[in-house]
Amino acid sequence: MQEIGLDTPLKGLIGARTAARLSEKLELVTVGDLLRYYPRKYDQRGKLTDLAKLVVGERATVWGRVVTVTERDLGYRGPNHGAGRGKGRGRPPVKHITNVVIGDGNRHLTCTFFNQYHWGKMLPPGTDAMFSGKITQFQNKLQMSSPSVAILSDTPDTRSREGSDLLEIIESFPGGVIPVYPLVEGVTQAILQRSVRTVLDLRPVIPDPVPDGLLAQHGLIDLTAALDDIHRPRNHEHREHAQRRLRYDEALSVQLVLARRKAQARNFPAEPCPRAPGGLLDAFDANLPFELTEGQREVGETIARDLATIHPMNRLLQGEVGSGKTVVALRAMLQVIDSGRQAVMLAPTEVLAAQHARSLRDVLGPLGRGGELGASAESTAITLLTGSLGARARKQALLNIASGQAGIVVGTHALLSEGVFFANLGLIVVDEQHRFGVEQRHALRAKHPEGNPPHVLVMTATPIPRTVAMTVFGDLDTSTLHQLPRGRSPIGTTVVPAAEKPAWVERAWQRIREEVAKGHQAYVVCPKIGDDDGDAELSEDGTLVDPDADPGEEMKRPPLSVTQVAAMLRDGPLSDLRVGVLHGRLVPGEKDDVMSAFARGGLDVLVATTVIEVGVDVPNASMMVIMDAERFGMSQLHQLRGRVGRGQAPGICLLVTEAPAGTPGRVRLDAVAATTDGFELAEADLELRREGNVLGTAQAGRSTALRQLSLLRDRETIEQARGDAAALVGDDPDMARWPGLADMVSAVIAEQEQDYLDKG
Ligand code: ADP
Ligand code: MG
Repeated sequence: MQEIGLDTPLKGLIGARTAARLSEKLELVTVGDLLRYYPRKYDQRGKLTDLAKLVVGERATVWGRVVTVTERDLGYRGPNHGAGRGKGRGRPPVKHITNVVIGDGNRHLTCTFFNQYHWGKMLPPGTDAMFSGKITQFQNKLQMSSPSVAILSDTPDTRSREGSDLLEIIESFPGGVIPVYPLVEGVTQAILQRSVRTVLDLRPVIPDPVPDGLLAQHGLIDLTAALDDIHRPRNHEHREHAQRRLRYDEALSVQLVLARRKAQARNFPAEPCPRAPGGLLDAFDANLPFELTEGQREVGETIARDLATIHPMNRLLQGEVGSGKTVVALRAMLQVIDSGRQAVMLAPTEVLAAQHARSLRDVLGPLGRGGELGASAESTAITLLTGSLGARARKQALLNIASGQAGIVVGTHALLSEGVFFANLGLIVVDEQHRFGVEQRHALRAKHPEGNPPHVLVMTATPIPRTVAMTVFGDLDTSTLHQLPRGRSPIGTTVVPAAEKPAWVERAWQRIREEVAKGHQAYVVCPKIGDDDGDAELSEDGTLVDPDADPGEEMKRPPLSVTQVAAMLRDGPLSDLRVGVLHGRLVPGEKDDVMSAFARGGLDVLVATTVIEVGVDVPNASMMVIMDAERFGMSQLHQLRGRVGRGQAPGICLLVTEAPAGTPGRVRLDAVAATTDGFELAEADLELRREGNVLGTAQAGRSTALRQLSLLRDRETIEQARGDAAALVGDDPDMARWPGLADMVSAVIAEQEQDYLDKG
């Protein structure tokens, strides 16, 4: 007999029709595909299903206990009664209805049977049974029409034909732990369970990719056992062991990819850019209007050393909002320029890119006017390149970049994809981007047509939970700025419960007037742009900026919009102030005009979307009011409030919400108001929202490389895997001794690349 392995096609092992269906509907073609299609959850036989979790419109299989049974005889109404129109057409007339109300101890669900006289007798109150069917809603009550039923009973004659599929399910899991697979139209639980069972019974030969030593060290079961137990565990302990093993594999394959990327990147040659005394950097340091914080100095030293080596730097700089990352990056850029090379700074939005260009020019002063008349010899030129430049300006910018005239280039990430050539690129700084995936960084390092890969510094102000950092930035070395510059004012955050205390909202507007009277400025942030657009605003990198608004929470009204709130403020409480509007739908030039007007003090109040979330730095802004605050994520709120309190005046942040006290949305806001520790909030945020949102869409390879793994729950596993991966790669960089591991790595890479190309 031919040996069956993970690559064996399902066709020929299970029925041809089933195989075709699995292939068509779920892209499950091989034994491996099917065995890696893990259950979504497990039911315990006889354990009543929580009816509160049912979703109207979905098919569900529930365990319930019969509460009441009512039967109704409609009598004979003639063969064509009700026929001819509507849904009933062509069906036999309804003569008898049995309503079986089942419960989970809290809630009820009505199962309705038409002309099926036997159910009344077979399901007396108190019976536990499994019901499967589509959940509908009727007069505000959950309902299931004509479900299939399986009664758990010792006497075979009480089993019904209708429920044979269900009975099969129950009986084929003697341990009582029943896998529940994610379904799509046309594929039922029974089909999946039967196919998996057939395949597992054929005892496929599954070589274990992970070295025995590691399995023993971590107390993990072998892969064959894990794949069996994930689908048909004898009990929950076995299921747990299976999950532990599979999670470890996922963590290990991702960490191996990162460890290899890191090792490879480290081995590339790079132009060393040692500090050159008497250059731009020294001149800049001499004119610095403040003293660097200890953290800035230390990180600066580390970076200076990285840049001086013959291998490229690949470093992540994390630091709270306002911790002064820009100065650190700028000093790195100047060191590189002092070595005769160029540096580029990439920002996520045009607003931010323009702001960076502006502030770099300010900070560098005469040092940044290279090429202009009377500029000193050591000075350099700053070129801004964004999508909104006119054709001529763009051409000139490209020329400056290609000729090497521009020492510093500032732009959006689009710069990477366009035909931009650098004369001599030495350093890439990526600002404020935790959605910048491994693949993008990889592409970026390849951005050197000739010569050696540039040094890379990635900066993020979003404090990242450790596991996320390890997974998303695992290929980078990490530095963190823990302190804020001295003299930084604390931000006081207060929740304003608009529904309970409407007067507080009035007070908020009054408070803005007071700030403005003191010569300060304020932001008002809204979740939406206009009245006619969708619920969320797309940020320029294409990810949904919106709010992980609680899915279960009912939306009483659409979110407040910038246009609406700006109009209300201009007509009402702030009619005598200068109110500007900023959002992603303004044309880029307009955006920049508004932003610089605000930065100059030409506007008192800026009503904006989350475009101001990242990096915008207007030290004179002392207050922020966030409308419908419960619609934003915790980390996002933290980011947003970091825009105020950057100057001498203490920052005020008001979180306006209609979410009632005690609701999840309100609890999150209370948490944000209670702490200013971004890392603490990031961990809490990870707990409260879907991980996908935290990682962002750019996190490549997530779909299958991380099926079982949770970045929140599996921290220990990820740390173990990270250590193991480093050791394995250090020992055997090509993993020649571990072909199974090498295959795991290739699979992740193939998927990441595919993912990247798909998004391309
Ligand atoms: P972020 O880390 O959020 O990017 P920035 O680099 O924008 O922070 O810095 C915030 C503000 O703090 C800027 O106005 C910057 O000039 C100022 N700043 C940076 N470092 C210091 C320092 N050591 N002392 C005082 N102010 C500083
Ligand atoms: Mg910044």
